[in-house]
Amino acid sequence: MQVTFRAIASRGLRMRCPNCGGPLVFARGMRLAEKCPACGARWERGNGFFLGAMVWNYGVTVFGLLPFVVLAAISGWISIPIAIGLGIGLGIVFPILFYKYSWSLWLTSYYLVLPNELPANAGEEHPAFKTR
Ligand SMILES: [Zn+2]
Repeated sequence: MQVTFRAIASRGLRMRCPNCGGPLVFARGMRLAEKCPACGARWERGNGFFLGAMVWNYGVTVFGLLPFVVLAAISGWISIPIAIGLGIGLGIVFPILFYKYSWSLWLTSYYLVLPNELPANAGEEHPAFKTR
C-alpha cells in the first residue's frame, strides 16, 4: 500500500506515524520511541537525525514566535523589559512544550521529501524494518 503525500502531511500534522497512521509514541517522556509500536517502522536514521527536529523547534521558536514579541515591543503594546522577559520565558518554555510536535514535523518533512524511504512505500525489505 502506497502512502500518499497528502496522507503523510495529514498524519504529521496530527502527530501520527507517517507510515501507518498510529500515534507517535515517546518512550521515557521526551524521547521518541525507537520504532513505531503499530507497524515497526524505525525512526532513527543515523547519527544526527535528531537535528531535524531541533531545527524545526528552533525555527518555529525564533522565526514564528519571537517576532511577535519584538513587534509588540516596537509598537509600544508592551514595554521593553516585559518584552525581554517574555522573550526569554517563551524562548525557554515554548521549545520544551513544542518538542514532541517538532519531531512530528521533522518526520513529516523528511518523508514528504523522501516518500520512498517510508517502509510502506518501499516494501518489507526496507532497512527501516530490519532489526539491528
Ligand atoms: Zn507506524
